[in-house]
Amino acid sequence: AKECGRGTFKFFSPDHNEKMVQRMQLEQALRRAIENQELFLDYQPQIDNATGAITGVEALVRWNHPQLGLLQPGLFISIAEDTGLIIPLGEWVLRTACHQAKAWQRAGHRQLRMAVNISPRQFQQRGLMPMIDTILQETGCDPKTLELELTETTLMDNPDEAAALLKALKRRGISLAIDDFGTGYSSLSHLKHFPIDRLKIDRSFINDLTRSPEDGAIVEAIIAMAHRLHLEAVAEGVEYRDQCTMLHNWGCTTSQGFLFSRPLPAPDLTSLLASGQNN
Ligand code: C2E
Ligand code: CA
Ligand code: CA
Ligand code: CA
Repeated sequence: AKECGRGTFKFFSPDHNEKMVQRMQLEQALRRAIENQELFLDYQPQIDNATGAITGVEALVRWNHPQLGLLQPGLFISIAEDTGLIIPLGEWVLRTACHQAKAWQRAGHRQLRMAVNISPRQFQQRGLMPMIDTILQETGCDPKTLELELTETTLMDNPDEAAALLKALKRRGISLAIDDFGTGYSSLSHLKHFPIDRLKIDRSFINDLTRSPEDGAIVEAIIAMAHRLHLEAVAEGVEYRDQCTMLHNWGCTTSQGFLFSRPLPAPDLTSLLASGQNN
């Protein structure tokens, strides 16, 4: 009984309690964050390895919390996912990203791709397709410039339903990427049937690329496989010139990472685009 009591005490330890309270407070605050306009997006450029031009950007959400200051998505996306708040949050992200994409299209960057992360719960939500249609119509954003990033786990949860939804998205001209490729559970036989455009090779394989022959072998094989499946390979988390050179030599077309730029507020990216004379 004493053991049991101790165990129970441990479970309700002040530490654990405090974490739960923090999480609940964060949840309450997150509910209000959208209407209070505390969320904003940064945009990280994606670079053509051959020319150095910016060919696209990934939209990444941040939260300017009135008391806690700037919060990174690692701190609140999982709460949003667990509570269902990811649905209104995700809608806000997509609408904001499409507005920005339209603004950059108007400024002459007609081919610039706008990549938006879609969480598993968002993908499984029935209203996703009509929501996307409404936002595209509302913003006038060209669907051909929109890319949705989905993880392997999101797609493999219900592969048949996923394939149908992906096809509907493709019919609108929207581009599709598998995010964090190589880290999730995925079946290559399913991958073959998904109308995917790009594989984003996870950062964890890029980290030690130049020092680890194993990581090198994995990355080279992913790029080769991507080519055979007529997919584009994108590397994320590229921090060093050496990594970029290696990736380029293996035929990886696009890189994203701190080597080129951290995620930036829209006005900074507008300047970067203007200085690079990207189309
Ligand atoms: P992700 O989709 O894999 O996004 C890339 C993350 O890697 C970003 O972190 C980015 O800042 C970081 N990163 C980019 N280049 C480098 C690099 O060279 N080195 C290192 N060490 N890191 C780099 P961030 O912005 O903190 O986002 C973390 C995750 O939160 C994202 O991972 C994504 O899963 C999620 N997330 C962010 N925004 C959204 C969103 O709007 N909706 C959803 N559903 N998830 C989001
Ligand atoms: Ca992503
Ligand atoms: Ca990623
Ligand atoms: Ca990631």
